[in-house]
Amino acid sequence: MSNQKNQSPFKICPQCGFETLQLQHNIHYSCSQCGWDYFHNTAAAAGILLYRTDEILLVQRNHEPEKGKYDVPGGFVNINESAEEAALRECFEEIGFRPESCAFFTSFPNQYLYKSILYYTCDLYFIARVDNPSFQIDPVEIGDVAFFKNSDIDFNTLAFPSTQNLVRLFIDAGINIH
Ligand SMILES: [Zn+2]
Repeated sequence: MSNQKNQSPFKICPQCGFETLQLQHNIHYSCSQCGWDYFHNTAAAAGILLYRTDEILLVQRNHEPEKGKYDVPGGFVNINESAEEAALRECFEEIGFRPESCAFFTSFPNQYLYKSILYYTCDLYFIARVDNPSFQIDPVEIGDVAFFKNSDIDFNTLAFPSTQNLVRLFIDAGINIH
């Protein structure tokens, strides 16, 4: 994960065109020339941890950031969409499988650097038990999908600190253990 901070998405004020933007508290851009205000607020993202006995499902990311590392299916919440609907939609888009339902589990803050813009996210995580799903992955998004035994997960291969926190919390909770 990048620890990059303070990189404005804007070089000039979108309203008056002067290079007079000032950043406050990492999220608030204000223009001293015309008074334009912009809050680069936390973006909602939703993910879903699919599990069965002793195993959880991970997808290998096939694009930046963290290409090649493992994550749970997920993505940004759309405008006018609930977090759980976003989690189920992203799951279907990435691996071609949509659980009938899911339950909220936990949330963690995260940072997501995409094409030079640093997004601060709140990653909202849901869980669902699935025993024998069939997959059809989106190869643009996903390189591979597989169930991994709890005891076999290499936390160094997980994409983000929020992913690591999620998987650690889930395994420690003993939800999918006999
Ligand atoms: Zn301005």
